[in-house]
Amino acid sequence: MDLGIRGKRALVCASSKGLGLGCAEALAEAGVDLVMNARGAEVLEAEATRLRSTYGVAVQAVACDVTTSEGQSEVINAAQGIDILVTNAGGPPPGMWSDWERDDFIKALDANMLTPIAFMKALLPGMMDKGWGRVVNITSQSVRAPIAVLGLSNAARTGLTGYVAGTARQVAPKGVTINNLLPGIHATDRADSLDGGVSAQKGISMAEARAERAATIPARRYGTRQEFGAACAFLCSQYAGFIVGQNILLDGGSTNLTM
Ligand code: NAD
Repeated sequence: MDLGIRGKRALVCASSKGLGLGCAEALAEAGVDLVMNARGAEVLEAEATRLRSTYGVAVQAVACDVTTSEGQSEVINAAQGIDILVTNAGGPPPGMWSDWERDDFIKALDANMLTPIAFMKALLPGMMDKGWGRVVNITSQSVRAPIAVLGLSNAARTGLTGYVAGTARQVAPKGVTINNLLPGIHATDRADSLDGGVSAQKGISMAEARAERAATIPARRYGTRQEFGAACAFLCSQYAGFIVGQNILLDGGSTNLTM
């Protein structure tokens, strides 16, 4: 399917691996030029080179931490004039409600709420001037149903979701859509680190921890970055202009909801 966005330009934050890479690759396949970002330069450059040579699109790689103000300035400078923004950053660590202090919340809010808001604030005006734009925020299934050990994530991402709900309606008249994609468990480094925690805590192997988790998902498996990227690319397509302010779960059915 031609998504109708060939020749557009996208910024995909945190995209050298995992879900961000899935989004970057699906957009590249649709003919979109990219600004890619991640903290580590080596893997980022390798993936940028692979996407350039596989899909024939222009790819600029900006290695920095997007949760810092210097990192944000660097990426925003490189991304001037983009048509598509995909926000993403690593998620907060798991823990217990009684252990989290103010600083832990500030870090989580910075990474998973205020960073995407800073990118939207900087880049939405250019899209609105052009009368076309797409924003997809990678959040989490924890926005629809809490994951108790990820209380920092529950809190920060729900704050972002509230911001998007109002802002999406304010920018829609200018042809710009903002939506959130809510991953359930996907086979990435993040899943490995969560499963590593379970394996250590329960004294079971990684394979056992994965199998235990997969058994709780109606689809009985983890999602892939390719599936996630395809959903993101569709939300960025010409055909998704009437999808505004939505929170779309990609979780194999694991969040037990009627709607
Ligand atoms: P990941 O940890 O596998 O992603 C790694 C990528 O993010 C790498 O490219 C890394 O360089 C980059 N990155 C991380 N922090 C960064 C930062 N501060 N600045 C720049 N780049 C940064 O994560 P993932 O599994 O792809 O998940 C992406 C997001 O989705 C995370 O916020 C995660 O918490 C959330 N999420 C993931 C899952 C899952 O099962 N994978 C489920 C729910 C929510």
